[in-house]
Amino acid sequence: MSRPPTEHALRRQAAEVSRLLWERGWVANHDGNVSARLAPGRIVATPTALSKRALGAEDMLLIDESRRVLRGRRRIFSEVGLHLEVYAARVDVGAVVHAHPPYATARAVTGRALPCFLPEAVVSLGESIPLVPFALPGKSAEDSLRPCLLDSDAVLLAGHGVLSWGDDLEQAYLRMELVEHLSRVAQLAEASGGVHALPRSVLDPLLAARTRAGLGRRGRASR
Ligand SMILES: [Zn+2]
Repeated sequence: MSRPPTEHALRRQAAEVSRLLWERGWVANHDGNVSARLAPGRIVATPTALSKRALGAEDMLLIDESRRVLRGRRRIFSEVGLHLEVYAARVDVGAVVHAHPPYATARAVTGRALPCFLPEAVVSLGESIPLVPFALPGKSAEDSLRPCLLDSDAVLLAGHGVLSWGDDLEQAYLRMELVEHLSRVAQLAEASGGVHALPRSVLDPLLAARTRAGLGRRGRASR
């Protein structure tokens, strides 16, 4: 088994992912946030009120599960409650990424879940990316997210953006990328009548492959 990453390594990776979110145009202004679990109750996270363009490892915060800043000079972002909900529900999760990528956010603001209509995406993310009903930031947004946590690894937040999570920052980031890619293809396909859903006879073996790969709720249970 590989050794768990150090706090410094997570700070560096969080800065790299933050920069990527900005470079790809998935955040504007101070949008977006990134976190990674260092140990139980110890989370490395981006600070609030700074562009993701120029965050360095030294800007990252170390917080506990009650949002207290244990190390770092800046303040924690207000959406941290969404990240903490994920960590509390899923002991397997090591990182959470939130951004407003334009195609996926366009889908989220029109209030539609996103079916996974490409075979690889079904294996990676399941049958669909659920839409978390709109809720004002804070406790109601966290309550709204909770029912989606066990079966999904990425969600559209209605009227808001995307939240994804994974074993580590790389996986959480790649899931965000896949949600944006699917949303973009779905949008392009609209001009020609929209995407065709995969039939049940195709979905079932893909979902079985997902379980065998250790993904999804049943896959994780058998790890
Ligand atoms: Zn947001």
